[in-house]
Amino acid sequence: MAADCLFCKIVAGEIPASIVYQDDRLVAFNDINPQAPLHALVVPRQHIASLNVLSVKDDELVGEMVRRAAAIAREKGYADGGFRTVFNTNADAGQTVFHIHLHLLAGRRFSWPPG
Ligand code: AMP
Ligand code: ZN
Repeated sequence: MAADCLFCKIVAGEIPASIVYQDDRLVAFNDINPQAPLHALVVPRQHIASLNVLSVKDDELVGEMVRRAAAIAREKGYADGGFRTVFNTNADAGQTVFHIHLHLLAGRRFSWPPG
């Protein structure tokens, strides 16, 4: 657990969140400022600051994050209609929490390219 990391605190149960899924490696919870009818964040329990510091040993974990986002989308009824998954990295992409998280958004039409 990293000191002063918001998502480490959510993973540890020190800050409440609306949990949609958890297991021994991942936690998924609803975004506090949702940008779509479904807006969840899939995070690893392990603190990893950004995609810039991923290593090959994290490949399985990141794969689990992506498959879990797809599973949540399917459970909520959005698999066929579609959903968007996003990792933001550093300032130009708008990363504000430096503990990797996969945004899962669904329930409306998303434009491309993104803003
Ligand atoms: P990013 O800008 O990609 O780093 O995304 C951080 C996300 O975390 C934003 O969408 C925020 O709305 C969300 N967020 C911030 N604080 C909380 C919180 N306490 N619980 C749930 N989501 C949060
Ligand atoms: Zn953290």
